[in-house]
Amino acid sequence: MSLSATIKTPLVTYEQPLGLFINNEFVKGVEGKTFETINPTDEKPIVAVHEGTEKDIDIAVKAARTAFEGAWHDVTPSQRSRLLIKLAELFERDLDILAAIEVLDNGKSITMAKSDVQNAASCIRYYGGWADKIHGQTIDTNNQTLSYTRHEAIGVCGQIIPWNFPILMWSWKIGPAIAAGNTVVLKSAEQTPLSALYAAKLIAEAGFPPGVINIISGFGRTAGAALSSHMDVDKIAFTGSTLVGRTILQAAAKSNLKKVTLELGGKSPNIVFDDADIDNAISWANFGIFYNHGQCCCAGSRVLVQEGIYDKFVARFRERAAKNQLGNPFEESTFQGPQVSQLQFDRIMEYIDHGKNEGATVALGGERHGDVGYFIQPTIFTDMKISQEEIFGPVIVVQKFKDEAEAIKIGNSTAYGLAAGVHTSNVNTAIRVSNALKAGTVWINNYNLISYQAPFGGYKTSGLGRELGSYALENYTQVKTVHYRLGDALF
Ligand code: NAD
Repeated sequence: MSLSATIKTPLVTYEQPLGLFINNEFVKGVEGKTFETINPTDEKPIVAVHEGTEKDIDIAVKAARTAFEGAWHDVTPSQRSRLLIKLAELFERDLDILAAIEVLDNGKSITMAKSDVQNAASCIRYYGGWADKIHGQTIDTNNQTLSYTRHEAIGVCGQIIPWNFPILMWSWKIGPAIAAGNTVVLKSAEQTPLSALYAAKLIAEAGFPPGVINIISGFGRTAGAALSSHMDVDKIAFTGSTLVGRTILQAAAKSNLKKVTLELGGKSPNIVFDDADIDNAISWANFGIFYNHGQCCCAGSRVLVQEGIYDKFVARFRERAAKNQLGNPFEESTFQGPQVSQLQFDRIMEYIDHGKNEGATVALGGERHGDVGYFIQPTIFTDMKISQEEIFGPVIVVQKFKDEAEAIKIGNSTAYGLAAGVHTSNVNTAIRVSNALKAGTVWINNYNLISYQAPFGGYKTSGLGRELGSYALENYTQVKTVHYRLGDALF
C-alpha cells in the first residue's frame, strides 16, 4: 500500500499521508499491517493507514532518544519557541484541510472542527511563548554556597490520545512537551488517525530536527501497551477512559516507573439554582452536554435543578435541545453530527435502552436519527437513577434537588471529579458551592469553556496531573538542585 492518498472532501481535496511518521519520514510498519478508518457519517471506509506495532514503537522510541541526546539537545529554548510558532502558523495556513479531516474522520461539525484547529494552533503558539521562559530559582542556603534549580526536560515522552478531539489533543500533548525540551512518540486513536498524520507533515515543514516528534497510528493493546511499558520512555501522558488509565499506570509501575499523567473520564454535574438566569442556564446545559455529541470528558451529563424551577427548566430545556440541528457535519448549520464509531453508537444506545427499561422518563429523543451513519437524537431523561458510568454521548439526566447542601452532596456523589457547573445569580452561593465541589474545573454561569492558558485535569478517578497553562510544564520538566560550594572544604 502506498504512503499517501488523494482525498476529496466537500470542503477541500488534499494529499493524506498514510505512513508512520518516524525521523521526519513516512514509513510502512515493520509487520506490513494496515487498518481502515471509517467515516461515521456514511459508515464507509475513508482510507487505510499503516499500522504501528511493538517493533515500530521501539524504532520510534530509539529515534526520539537519539534526537533527545543529539540534535535536539543543542537547539536553544528560543529556537524551540520559533519552531512551535512556525508550526502554529502552518496549522492556520492549512486550517480548512485539518478541519475537513476532523469532520471526515470523527464526524464533528465543520464549525466545531474549525474551532478545534484554531484552538490547536493557538495552544501550540502559546507553548511556543513558554519555551524560552522555563527556568529555575537561585536559593539562598548560606554565604558559602551557590544553590540553584534547573527545570530540565524529562526525556522521551510517550503520548496516547483519544478520538473525541484528535487534533486538539495532539496540540495539548505536543505543545508543552516540546516547549520544555522533550522528544515525543505520540500514538493517535485508531478511530481517528488522519489529522495526526497530516499534522506530522507540518512538523517536517516547520523544520523540527528528525526524531523530535514521531507519530504512530495503531491500536491500544499493541502500540499503546508497548509505549506505556517501554523501558526507554521516561514519561507517559494519556487521555481516554479510566479503565485504560489504570492499565497505563500499572504498565508504568511494572516497567521503569516512568512519570505518568492521566486525563480520564467524568460524570460532571451542572447545578442550576432557583435564582439562576434560566435562559442562560439552559443554553449552557445544552452546550454542556450536546457539544461534540456528548463526547467530551467534561460533559455536563447530570443537570441538577432546584425544585422551584425544575418543571419550567425541563420544559424549556426540551424545546431548546429539540432545535439542535442534526445531520451532515459538513453543513455550516449543523450542530450535531454522528457519534465516532459503531462501537460508541452501540454503547450509547445500550445505555439509553437501559434507562428506558429502568422506567426513566424520556423527555426528549431516545432513538437513532436516520438510518445511515451513527447519529443519535439529543436525549433528555428525567426520573432516572443517576448512573455512575460515563455514557459519552448526547444523553443527559435532569434531576431535582432541594437546597445547596443536597446539590453539593449529589454533585460529589460519583467516583469522578473532572468538572462541574454552577448557575446562580448569588455570588456567595456561586463561590461557596464551587469551593465545595470536588472537581478540577468549575464553571460559574457557563459550561465547557476551556482555555489553553488555564489548567485542566481531574480530582478523584478523573486523572493525575494537569494539562494546559503553565501547570502542564510541571509534568514535562524535572527539577534538579545544584549546590556549588564557594568556600573552603567543611571537613
Ligand atoms: P480508550 O481509553 O480505550 O482509548 C483511548 C486511547 O487509548 C486510544 O488511543 C487507544 O488506542 C488507547 N488504548 C486503549 N487501550 C490501551 C492500552 N491497553 N494501553 C495503552 N493504550 C491503550 O477509549 P475508547 O475505547 O475509545 O472509548 C471508551 C470510553 O472511554 C468512552 O466511552 C469514554 O467514556 C471514554 N473516553 C474518554 C475520553 C476522554 O477524553 N477522557 C476520550 C475517549 C474515550
